[in-house]
Amino acid sequence: MFTEKFILEKYNEIKESWEKYLKNKGVKLSSLKKKNGSYTLNALVLIYLYANIKKNISKEEITVFLQNLGYQINDMQQARHLSQQYGWYIISGQRGDSECEKYNVESGEYMLITIKEPYPKFNDKRRAEKLSTNSWNDLKKHYGNRCVSCGSEDKKNNLLYPNSITRLQQGHKDPRKPLTLDNIIPQCQFCNGASKNSFVFDNKGKIVKISDPKFILKSDENIKIDMLKLLMKENIEKAEKILEDLKKQP
Ligand SMILES: [Zn+2]
Repeated sequence: MFTEKFILEKYNEIKESWEKYLKNKGVKLSSLKKKNGSYTLNALVLIYLYANIKKNISKEEITVFLQNLGYQINDMQQARHLSQQYGWYIISGQRGDSECEKYNVESGEYMLITIKEPYPKFNDKRRAEKLSTNSWNDLKKHYGNRCVSCGSEDKKNNLLYPNSITRLQQGHKDPRKPLTLDNIIPQCQFCNGASKNSFVFDNKGKIVKISDPKFILKSDENIKIDMLKLLMKENIEKAEKILEDLKKQP
């Protein structure tokens, strides 16, 4: 199945979609071949997952595929890197990850969901660094060179930590979307670190949503129970299915 022709065909399909939908969102595509003519592992793994799009693919399966092409791999990490560092919408099985639960991806498995959207939690830091100084500066100016959360002014003593000098950073409004200019609020190093991708903020730095479900675990027990009731009430059918699935787990 994975002839040279097939691999090239699939790579070109991926590349076409990447140029149309993903390139401008900072998603990275590896070249198909290295200078010495051998395939890059990133491209091969992506092609394999694409040929099996929306299917659960185990780490072993990918390893065997690579071995059949003559690549000796001990611990295949490409699939994980492709999502976390390159931005491809590949789910790696991990307990407690809402994406995995949504698509039933177990530990040790991967699934490519689409080649039209980046991975939802893809933090495109490199792109943010590349933002032209003018635009980031303009954005800071728009906010009076102050942290949107605590009001501390850039390069002056921090209001909350008076012994420290405020450094404005590019805070993520919605951590599930790329860090583009319209998704940035200026936050000082203290306020930016504190939120740790748990929330979605509006333009004024107010919290509008939780973006990391694990945050609820920090709440008091009665709040957790109330949250559970609320969610179960909202969709009792889903709740029953989740409960069944949980019971099946060892
Ligand atoms: Zn602050």
